[in-house]
Amino acid sequence: MTGLDNIKRIIVVLSGKGGVGKSTVATELALSLYTNGNNVGLLDVDLCGPSIPRMFGVDKNSKSSTVYETPEGMTPIEIFSSANEKSKFKLMSMALLLDDINDAIIWRGPRKMAMIQRLLTGVKWGELDYLIIDTPPGTSDEHITVMNVLKQHEHAKDFLRTILVTTPQMLSINDVRREITFCQKTSFHIIGLIENMSGYVCPHCSECTNIFAQGGGHLLAEQYSIPFLGQLPIDHELNKILDQGIQQVENGLQKINETEAMKLFKNI
Ligand code: ADP
Repeated sequence: MTGLDNIKRIIVVLSGKGGVGKSTVATELALSLYTNGNNVGLLDVDLCGPSIPRMFGVDKNSKSSTVYETPEGMTPIEIFSSANEKSKFKLMSMALLLDDINDAIIWRGPRKMAMIQRLLTGVKWGELDYLIIDTPPGTSDEHITVMNVLKQHEHAKDFLRTILVTTPQMLSINDVRREITFCQKTSFHIIGLIENMSGYVCPHCSECTNIFAQGGGHLLAEQYSIPFLGQLPIDHELNKILDQGIQQVENGLQKINETEAMKLFKNI
């Protein structure tokens, strides 16, 4: 299977609902691994709502954001190359293949599945320590395609892992149950569950307000005997940087590494 042959580990990030912070978690995880000296790739297979390039502030008109077709596959774009020369950070997303990053994809089943297959096997990543895959929300045909394609790899059992993301509300928690069942049915090893948007820490008085319910992620993890990886607070600074796009913020990588939310990833 070309494209994935020189990748040591793949982590697929899943969530039951949209808007719970799945792309944010995928981005933070990838950045944390990169900052720790790993070669990291981040693949966005959310065809209908690819948000990763925007979070990184990719300028589609710049030459460095161009994806090239080569006989060995599509070239991912490389970012932060001057910040840390030893390790590399590469990105690929459907949005990079469109003329405009904000264009909508209105494709039906087979075309979408073929594109996902292409994104999974047709990218020339080179050697990577980690490939982080951001998926669409839910457990749709897209997920089955992702899992089926990845499972064809001869070392899938050793190198394929998933992380689940939820918010503390019951609505999101219930949807994550479906994700867990999906992983169990498809025999995917779950690294653990992250509860995102878990309380807001006031930047002035440091008091934490639990805007939503509390502790649901922890209980769910216990119920299904999967590791609870921790809680991410609502972090105004993080949101500001991701909204602007990391590369568009002065010292964006450094600033995001200093956010409260990034602390969790140092221990994963
Ligand atoms: P999903 O991928 O689940 O649809 P996103 O990762 O795109 O969700 O997040 C949705 C929005 O919420 C984004 O604007 C993102 O910046 C914001 N967000 C996510 N997690 C946090 C957090 N812990 N603190 C502040 N903002 C967050």
